[in-house]
Amino acid sequence: MIFEGLSDKLQNAFGKLKSKGKLSEKDVKDAMREVKLALLEADVNFKVVKEFIKKVQERCVGQEVMQSLTPGQHVIKIVNEELTALMGDVQSKIMISSKPPTVIMMVGLQGAGKTTTSGKLGGYLKKQGKKPLLVACDVYRPAAIKQLQVVGEKLDIPVFSMGDKENPVNIAKAGFEHAKANSNDIVIIDTAGRLHVDELLMDELKNIKAEVKPHEILLTVDAMTGQDAVNVAESFNEALGIDGVVLTKLDGDTRGGAALSIRAVTNKPIKFIGMGEKLDDIEPFHPDRMASRILGMGDVLSLIEKAQETVDLEEAKKLEQKLRKQEFDFEDLLSQFEQIQKMGSMEKILGMMPGMGQLKDQLGNVDLNGKEMKRTKAIIQSMTIEERRNPSILNASRKKRIAKGSGTSVQDVNRLIKQLNEMKKMMKMFTGMTGGKGKKKRGG
Ligand code: GDP
Repeated sequence: MIFEGLSDKLQNAFGKLKSKGKLSEKDVKDAMREVKLALLEADVNFKVVKEFIKKVQERCVGQEVMQSLTPGQHVIKIVNEELTALMGDVQSKIMISSKPPTVIMMVGLQGAGKTTTSGKLGGYLKKQGKKPLLVACDVYRPAAIKQLQVVGEKLDIPVFSMGDKENPVNIAKAGFEHAKANSNDIVIIDTAGRLHVDELLMDELKNIKAEVKPHEILLTVDAMTGQDAVNVAESFNEALGIDGVVLTKLDGDTRGGAALSIRAVTNKPIKFIGMGEKLDDIEPFHPDRMASRILGMGDVLSLIEKAQETVDLEEAKKLEQKLRKQEFDFEDLLSQFEQIQKMGSMEKILGMMPGMGQLKDQLGNVDLNGKEMKRTKAIIQSMTIEERRNPSILNASRKKRIAKGSGTSVQDVNRLIKQLNEMKKMMKMFTGMTGGKGKKKRGG
């Protein structure tokens, strides 16, 4: 998976900071040296790394450590923000013209995944209720037209082609007219690629651009080629001008250098990512989510911020201690429920916690917002204080009593006990992951 090594190394670097009560300039510098190496090893552009480290360091040094956060978390927060900024802050959408059809011109080198991506994008837009038309302008690569037709057939999207004898500029123009006549509101033009960026290719693309005036020029680049992908993006942008990038084959890219460099180097956003060969393996690119992913932490930062707004800090500290020692019990769960209810929907909160996505899957279709929460609370409230603090004493007769008292069944009580144990397990993994000490040593 992408960012494997980077993720591990960053977490390692931050783990060391987590035990410190206060950050010295040297602590930050040491950590930043590790972050720098990790980024370089992930094949991030050297200049980008240098700038990035400078910014993060400036922000970390001299900043007061917030009362509610450990210094390590504070640094992670800053790194997360800067990583997000590096990739473009906000999600960049496709520009849909108010005067249809919207013309999207797909460009890129041969093998980058342009034809596949043209289809994927068509499928993606079709799911949003659009009526795309694919236009086959790659008249040079053998079988490119056929390939687009096969893709179109699979997705049930029409493909416009004039064979491989016609000039691509004319095909693009005719494709556009065809779309208008058939009320297709999106035209996706699959242009020719070359093995390398060359003048002939650029001239042809410029001619198509001049003729059909696309609303979007999307460049497809192969993530696995790392810095080459960044160079290709730079060349295309300089010669042709692009509006955004589709980064393909992210499923096979373990380093992530292209994903982290393209925006900073070209000033053009990554709009979509390709995550596999199947035609629905395309996702809009969210810089913030990608940053969280790199840091291996779900969206825990929003959670921390939200918690800061609402949660009693002393309580939170006590809870953290308990979690670390895995003493989390039903009383804590109950008080958490109350805190969480203050923060908003349970589903959303859980979604932000690392590992909790999986937990939700394990629990099946639990309604985390309404009924289920009330029921869970009722079960806990039917327990004695002793039972809440020490769930292991819950034998059959106690469970029966609790079920009766809360208007639930013994199975419900059992399920909740299981849930608590799962949460403890997850917390154990989480504290291991971000605590620096845990997972690595235990896991060997
Ligand atoms: P083109 O020459 O740029 O039009 O490239 P193609 O669309 O023919 O794609 C080249 C190869 O890359 C094909 O085997 C595709 O299946 C594969 N491919 C495209 N996108 C992805 C992706 O996101 N992930 C993976 N694993 N393979 C991809």
